[in-house]
Amino acid sequence: MPAHAAATRALRRKLGARVVRTDAAALAEASYDSAKIPFRPEAVVRVTAEAQVGTVLELANRHRVPVTTRGRGTTLTGAATPVQGGWVLDLLALDGIAIDDEAGMAHVGAGAKVADIQRAAEAQGWFYPPDPSSKEYCTIGGNIACNAGGMHGGKYGVTRDFVIALRGFLPTGEGVSWGTATKKFSAGFNLRDLWIGSEGMLGVVTGAVLKLIPRPAERWTLLTSFRDETAALRAALALFRARVQPAICEFLDRQSVLCAERATGRVVFSGQPLESAQGESGRPVILLELAGGRAELREQRAVVLAWAAAHATAHRAARTREEAEQLWAVRRKCSGAMFELGDAKLNEDIVVPMRNYVAFARFLARLKRESGLAIPTFGHLADGNLHVNIMYHKAVPAECRAAERAVQTLMETVVALGGAISGEHGIGLAKSPFLRLQHSPAQVRAMQAVKRALDPRGVLNPGKMFERFEVWKHERLAVKLPWDHK
Ligand SMILES: Cc1cc2nc3c(=O)[nH]c(=O)nc-3n(C[C@H](O)[C@H](O)[C@H](O)COP(=O)(O)OP(=O)(O)OC[C@H]3O[C@@H](n4cnc5c(N)ncnc54)[C@H](O)[C@@H]3O)c2cc1C
Repeated sequence: MPAHAAATRALRRKLGARVVRTDAAALAEASYDSAKIPFRPEAVVRVTAEAQVGTVLELANRHRVPVTTRGRGTTLTGAATPVQGGWVLDLLALDGIAIDDEAGMAHVGAGAKVADIQRAAEAQGWFYPPDPSSKEYCTIGGNIACNAGGMHGGKYGVTRDFVIALRGFLPTGEGVSWGTATKKFSAGFNLRDLWIGSEGMLGVVTGAVLKLIPRPAERWTLLTSFRDETAALRAALALFRARVQPAICEFLDRQSVLCAERATGRVVFSGQPLESAQGESGRPVILLELAGGRAELREQRAVVLAWAAAHATAHRAARTREEAEQLWAVRRKCSGAMFELGDAKLNEDIVVPMRNYVAFARFLARLKRESGLAIPTFGHLADGNLHVNIMYHKAVPAECRAAERAVQTLMETVVALGGAISGEHGIGLAKSPFLRLQHSPAQVRAMQAVKRALDPRGVLNPGKMFERFEVWKHERLAVKLPWDHK
């Protein structure tokens, strides 16, 4: 007998059986996210109107039913997994998008797909820069809850930098709005920013007003390769010192380049039509893009080409947009391509302060050597957010132990270098063992006090962030999700 059967029946009476689903297929689908560690909910509530969210939360709060809000379930940390059962609140149907052409704002429902928001903005000459690689799937509600980033972070910022106002519901079911559709708002505590990045634990976002900026007139893509990883990271610092702000500045270490090349069947630096720089395969690369007005780009291009001539072993600009797209396709293949190095991955998204790039490159080389594991690493050099992928074989106990030790060492080192254990994915379940490396006991207590104040009965997304969960001890489902590359 499900623990909250009576509450589920009451909810179904209020919202109907089409909204409150308890069939096996719906429950199975909502039992896991991209972390693929399943916990069965008792119902999936597929709301069709914002007000229904208030009804769900009011009832959940009264009956103490755990509620896990869900966008598209692309989170890699298990944050959308209903780890304590209860109800999964699915917001995908709240997917409205309207562009305010004069104000340069987008009014969106929480379930709107991020790539659809970008396309709607671009159709009117506007640009919404936050661009997680999962943007063809993930929702703006999920992005707000995780403060998602992406390749544009260094120049433009992350989701937080583009949220003007939010509306939604407190865990008690009361409706609230944080801010309005104005560019200035200084009235009262800023709870909008408290919700952003709160991983669905302090409230449910049902709609947002987003800031747009004018679409850049031109883009220019350059691929550069380097002798080794330390040289690449050192060179990036020289570029930033030259006051260049690339729209994108992606680093791929040797292991990442080789995996992506094998997955695409293309050698990044030879093969048509990038034939002029043969022999660079297997070297770390920086792939960068400048974006802006024609005059600004002309000026920056000259600086970047001089920088590449001085620091890179080879460089080549894409001559057409198609050529540039081929390069970005190789970059996007990175994450999935790594499964040739192991059937399990601890996928970390740490942040390193720029002043410690070289120290981190040396640490990473040592970690690879001493752990004996493949640890392909790539990421966003303009904001220090690096994706460190610890690959291992789950049937080999020695590799499992080595991976567990490696992730602990990684997190301790990142914090010691003044960095962050997560730059965009958040804590969820996967990073919970490391939260207290990042935050002092007083800081954790302050966060827990906020949680208790807004969610006194602990109904929203319980079991996450503050409670230790070791993902590596859990069997992952062997399912292929639409966004899995492999
Ligand atoms: C292939 C791939 C690439 C990725 N690349 C990136 C990347 O480049 N940058 C990046 O930042 N992330 C990336 N991610 C992670 C993920 O896509 C983001 O965290 C994204 O923000 C999750 O959105 P979602 O709609 O799937 O949310 P879900 O996964 O459904 O939920 C994520 C969290 O948000 C909460 N939540 C969802 N909607 C709401 C809401 N309306 N109100 C309150 N809480 C809510 C959930 O409870 C959960 O805690 C990637 C994931 C994959 C699989």
